Amino acid sequence: MSALNTIEINHIENELRASLTKIRAAYKRHPAPSAKERIDRLDRLHTAILEYKDRLIEAVDQDFNGRAGAETLMIELLPVLEGIQYNKKHLRKWMKQSTRHTPLMLFGAKTKVHYQPLGVIGIVVPWNFPVFLGLSPLAGAFAAGNRAMMKTSEFAPKTGELLKEMISKHFSDEEAIVVNGGVEVATEFTKLPFDHLVFTGSTQVGRIVMHAAADNLTPVTLELGGKSPAIIHESFPIEEAAKRIAFGKGLNAGQVCVSPDYIMVPHAKVNAFVDAFINSFTKHYPSLERNPDYTSIITERQRERLLDNIQDAQEKGAKVVTINPANETFAGSRKLPMHIVTNVAGNMRVMKEEIFGPILPIVPYDTLDEAIAYVNDRDRPLALYYFDWDKGRAEKILEETHSGGVCINEVMTHTMVDDMPFGGVGPSGMGHYHGKEGFLNFSKAKGVVRKGRFDGNSLISAPWGNKYYNLFINFQLRRFKKA
Ligand code: NAD
Repeated sequence: MSALNTIEINHIENELRASLTKIRAAYKRHPAPSAKERIDRLDRLHTAILEYKDRLIEAVDQDFNGRAGAETLMIELLPVLEGIQYNKKHLRKWMKQSTRHTPLMLFGAKTKVHYQPLGVIGIVVPWNFPVFLGLSPLAGAFAAGNRAMMKTSEFAPKTGELLKEMISKHFSDEEAIVVNGGVEVATEFTKLPFDHLVFTGSTQVGRIVMHAAADNLTPVTLELGGKSPAIIHESFPIEEAAKRIAFGKGLNAGQVCVSPDYIMVPHAKVNAFVDAFINSFTKHYPSLERNPDYTSIITERQRERLLDNIQDAQEKGAKVVTINPANETFAGSRKLPMHIVTNVAGNMRVMKEEIFGPILPIVPYDTLDEAIAYVNDRDRPLALYYFDWDKGRAEKILEETHSGGVCINEVMTHTMVDDMPFGGVGPSGMGHYHGKEGFLNFSKAKGVVRKGRFDGNSLISAPWGNKYYNLFINFQLRRFKKA
């Protein structure tokens, strides 16, 4: 049930609609910003991030009740700056009209595709990377010549407030707006008739958002979650795999959409993997509760969800190893140590739901085909990781499984590559942003036929069967005589 009454909800709706009307009117007055204007917006975003860098790091730290500034800098702020620079460098080339093949039927005409800004893009942001997941789509929207409204997450309120201050200082409310608030605001926001809506969040809420967007026929990019597996081939050095996985799984204490969710390890290597993972993880984090490098769980509710899932697995027969190198108590703390779960079964919540935290189930397997079948029997994940030096087998994995993206002998870093599309498939999402695909996602590719003075239609038009019609049709039928 909503915490707000109807009058308050109507007020939210009216305010949001008024903001959209204003920003859309500005777009209509100036629907085709030049490359220079787009670069100016991207430059201002860059300047704003530099100006607010320390405060953003501080706000994220406060929202998490503990997240290292070094981590926020490395995986939130620098990737946005990188993305801005990449967009600036390439957008002139992407904006160029592309000449296409003109069919014989249109003899004398020219055909081109124009890449036109869509208008106003709605952006809905989750809490786990509250800066990057707001500003990265914003940069993509700007590069394609759009304006945008962004709804931040209620679970990162300090960051949301600061983003609102930062954007309103560097952009007019006719260019970009940040909206803060809870589910009621999010619900009204996603009902707005945007020209495109980018939603980053859970698959469950993604469904609700797509329903809301359908009423306006607003196209959506859904950046969702899921269970991203890592498969280790028996020939791959297990310590090396554990080290590479431990680095990724430790980031943001596993609260990352592309965090390895479960690890598929050959039966005979499970114990070796567990030992190696503990070793590597302990090297990075010799203590956890009092270690500022190790991120807290965003809310007490999320921490309870994770603890419940560990208990559920234990009750159903799993073996849980808690990595707690400094024997800390975690009493009254929002931090949660890393847990490795073995002896898992399909009825455990850790094997049914996205984990999104410091829990790592291990799924043993015997043959590669069995591992592939296991992945293919489940929802298509956002990411898949495969550890094997053998390129042929890696190719087989690429061909025989579906996922939003893949890293081979590595985890998660594909999200940092601007020159590649990023997005899920099936229940892990739809559409892409980042790179040229992001530009295309936020543009209308408009096919344009330009006819000259010569009007071929007048020669072949009805009454059908006239001399030129017959010439044209017979010529075409001869061309298509064989497949
Ligand atoms: P969430 O789905 O609970 O919330 C995301 C956003 O949706 C928030 O801004 C929230 O206010 C809004 N929202 C909540 N209820 C809504 C409703 N009924 N209608 C409209 N909007 C609503 O997700 P979260 O807990 O913030 O983030 C975690 C999830 O996000 C995980 O599943 C994770 O995998 C996913 N995620 C995906 C990516 C990606 O790029 N694919 C990145 C980060 C996180």
